Amino acid sequence: MWSGGLPKKWFGRATSSTIIEWPAALISAHLLIKCGACVDVIREFDPWGDPLCTCPKKYGFNPYTGCAYRCVYCYITSYIPRAFGCRVKKNLIVRVKRDLQRMETRQVISMSNSSDPYPPIEAKLKLTRACLELFLSEGCRVQAITKSGLVTRDVDLLSRLPSVVSFTITTLKRDLGRKLEPRAPPPERRLTAMRELSDAGVPVSLRLDPIIPGLNDTEIERIVKAAVATGAKHVTSSTFKPRPDSWHRVRRVFPEATAKLAPLYFERGERYHNSWYLPRELRLGLMGQVKKACDENGLTFASCREGLRELTTGASCDGSHLISRRGSADLLTY
Ligand code: SF4
Repeated sequence: MWSGGLPKKWFGRATSSTIIEWPAALISAHLLIKCGACVDVIREFDPWGDPLCTCPKKYGFNPYTGCAYRCVYCYITSYIPRAFGCRVKKNLIVRVKRDLQRMETRQVISMSNSSDPYPPIEAKLKLTRACLELFLSEGCRVQAITKSGLVTRDVDLLSRLPSVVSFTITTLKRDLGRKLEPRAPPPERRLTAMRELSDAGVPVSLRLDPIIPGLNDTEIERIVKAAVATGAKHVTSSTFKPRPDSWHRVRRVFPEATAKLAPLYFERGERYHNSWYLPRELRLGLMGQVKKACDENGLTFASCREGLRELTTGASCDGSHLISRRGSADLLTY
């Protein structure tokens, strides 16, 4: 049986299918060249143009650096120092104001892809709220991606902004949730928040990711049905794509499951961007299950960075097509 350890080839020479991660300094230099006047805290999303990313052109924005929720499968530990220490950015509001003067405000601002915009300290600091106020005054379009019910505090702003709120839910089992996402609010709190926002006219979508075979793949239909009941209209899903750090954490918490998964990733799977992917037929099977549940429940579906565009039924993969032009009344068509 596989010991669950990392294969040597993980650290081996790059192959033709391997794309090395860009260091932060190189990314910044690339942004400077590409944008001329470079934005600072609100940055072009995916500036290196990953062919697997099907997202519409948008900005990425993290009000906080690092994340307090400590999800075992999280990928940010591979590129953010002290990633599980959530901290404030220096002069955040001044920098956001400056960026807003230089930006194309029609593009969606996605917050956050490398943190959660509603960590526990946000309850006191209200920095995300202050940014939403600025976005509202500048007529920006916003997507918030969160695991926190605190987002409902800002329903007054979100219902006036062209916005969508996407909630990540990986399991409805409390015990499993505590192991997967030790410091994140429980899944039922997220569902309540989805319902509350949806009732207030804020479009909501579900991020059912990552799916980790042997841990949460049996809950797909249940989670989709729970999301439908809240008023969600779209689901984005993906499979677990471990990097060395996230694999070690998941392995420590789930030794039996990872012993079964290791050969699927490291012998039969594919390596891409320093991440390991399950074999394509397995990913197709899992994403097909999510799509089927969505089809049966009247939701649109897209996978995230799986190379499975053929399964997409939504107008966007990330759910940003649910954002209205003015508040939440009319849906934007791409
Ligand atoms: S909430 Fe997101 S960014 Fe934060 S630890 Fe979990 S996966 Fe990482």
